[in-house]
Amino acid sequence: MNETAAPSAAIETECVVVGAGPSGLFAVFELGLLGIKCHVVDSLGHPGGQCAELYPDKPIYDIPALPVCGAQELVDRLMEQIRPFEAGFHLGQEVTGLRRRDDGRFELTTARGTRFDAGAVVIAAGLGSFQPRRLSVDGAEALEGSRLHYRVARAEQYYGKDLLIAGGGDSALDWVLAFAGRAKSVTLVHRRDEFRAQPASVARMKELAAAGQVRHLTGQVGALEVVDGDLAGAVVNCLDGSVARVACDHVFAFFGLHPKLGPIADWGLELERKALKVDTEKFQTSVPGIFAIGDINTYPGKKKLILSGFHEAALAAFGVQAHVYPNKRQFLQYTTTSPIMQQRLGLAGQGDAGG
Ligand code: FAD
Repeated sequence: MNETAAPSAAIETECVVVGAGPSGLFAVFELGLLGIKCHVVDSLGHPGGQCAELYPDKPIYDIPALPVCGAQELVDRLMEQIRPFEAGFHLGQEVTGLRRRDDGRFELTTARGTRFDAGAVVIAAGLGSFQPRRLSVDGAEALEGSRLHYRVARAEQYYGKDLLIAGGGDSALDWVLAFAGRAKSVTLVHRRDEFRAQPASVARMKELAAAGQVRHLTGQVGALEVVDGDLAGAVVNCLDGSVARVACDHVFAFFGLHPKLGPIADWGLELERKALKVDTEKFQTSVPGIFAIGDINTYPGKKKLILSGFHEAALAAFGVQAHVYPNKRQFLQYTTTSPIMQQRLGLAGQGDAGG
């Protein structure tokens, strides 16, 4: 994967794909077959959209020719399939701005400051970009970023501090284990006895708790104690009915992520019930040159299935080609027999590359 850091100048490209779920990844493939290079942006730190984020270990039974396929396996297979096309990946950054310039090209900006100058855009944003589920207690919002965090950036800054970590998934448990022995104290708060995290991590956390190196409370953060505008501690309502006070400098809440339509609603595209209206010939939105595929779009008869996203990706790719190269003659080629497609796929024994 060609993951890039945010450069200062705009990246000039034929196409930007917003969203690295199954639809966005397959769009890279279909665009690549037509000789169109693209950059992919996703707010998640990894590709795969809902498959990778919501149900990576579940089997999928309705992918053509794969009687059963794990959701993460599907993502891995798509990543392998698109490798020859060397798309640029920009992960962990939400596309916040999209505007059509007077010259007909598109300017996209991300929350991290990456900018693109694109001939066309494929929005494959699913149900929206994934956002952390927030801790909903009084005063939490005011402490966000300073004392209350939904991700860990530069872990060393929390060494020697009193930390409260809430959650029962891999992120919560991984950070409990990472901070144990480094922070002044680590308290894990999880609402029930069962954990979603890897059993080995849970076992290790319990060992540390038994050794007194980690405090483990079963319950929920009921309130944050704020003194002079700063966090002093948290009150935990325990499952057994008791109430515990935890002195802490920082609270980390790892309650998982949920998708939110977010900035897409502000891009001036026609929407119908939080989905982008498209035609069914090219899956183009109300703005020529901007296409929308997968769960984010709507049209009569739409079904939110991976299969639908794949079909839409193929037709949108032809739409992108026609938009970016209006004078180019379009014709259907088969990967089985097309030398140029085989060359683009990096296959050995390729034939004459005319086409
Ligand atoms: P998504 O997978 O939602 O990916 C969209 C991506 O876009 C996300 O990664 C998101 O972070 C990113 N994004 C959104 N907005 C922005 C932005 N502004 N900037 C940057 N990135 C952005 N379907 C089936 O066909 N078969 C099944 O068996 C099946 N089982 C399912 C089981 C579960 C539990 C769930 C939740 C869904 C299931 N689905 C199934 C549905 C399937 O997962 C979706 O149809 C599919 O993921 C849609 O793919 P997509 O690429 O369109 O969107």
